[in-house]
Amino acid sequence: MNRQQFLLGFLTIPFYKHFLHETSDELLVLTGKKSPVLHNGLQFSASKAFAAMKKEAHASGIHLHIASAYRSYFRQLSIWNGKYERYRNQGLKGLELIHKINEFSAIPGTSRHHWGTDADVLDLAAMQPKNPLFAPHYVNSGGVYNKLYDWMSKNAPRFDFYETYTKDLTRTGFQFEPWHYSYLPIATEYLAKYNKNISLVNILSPELKGKDLLDEPYFRRYLQKYINGINTKLL
Ligand SMILES: [Zn+2]
Repeated sequence: MNRQQFLLGFLTIPFYKHFLHETSDELLVLTGKKSPVLHNGLQFSASKAFAAMKKEAHASGIHLHIASAYRSYFRQLSIWNGKYERYRNQGLKGLELIHKINEFSAIPGTSRHHWGTDADVLDLAAMQPKNPLFAPHYVNSGGVYNKLYDWMSKNAPRFDFYETYTKDLTRTGFQFEPWHYSYLPIATEYLAKYNKNISLVNILSPELKGKDLLDEPYFRRYLQKYINGINTKLL
């Protein structure tokens, strides 16, 4: 490596460290098996943008709060396996059971919460309901998070945060989630890398319940319908 290459490489590290370089690391970060560098559950630039948004929301009487941001593969695995058991006990089986879990929950290794770019938000200034992540709280007038939802709809894009699982009826995949936002500058980059590099083999683990129902053709269709079934601004 000559001196100029060394300097260019050296200088770019701090500015581009949220982008992925090494292939093996890349696969692990994209699937939540390795954490990116995080601040408050988000990557640094996303966390900084979120803090600025939070400050502005506060001036409007909204206490913007992250209910859930980064989630590891193993955390998602425990959510997945818990729902698998619950729905199996209710009599569901086969792909019907998988589709039921997929209404709101991703297969471990495929959640955007693995990336440090996405957050579920609520408003701590409101009276807290028992089940916060419930769409009517956000979209119904008089809902406890309706003020938050209106504010976010108008203002979040100025901070590069976009609603991911919109109400758009032409969108496929996960149900409408008015609490879930993505930080566009990193998240679009990650999705492109995900689509290019991840196969079923990267997300499997011996502990994954229902894994025998999944094969590569199913996984390709799932990626199209669910992982790419998002707000088109984030594609
Ligand atoms: Zn979420």
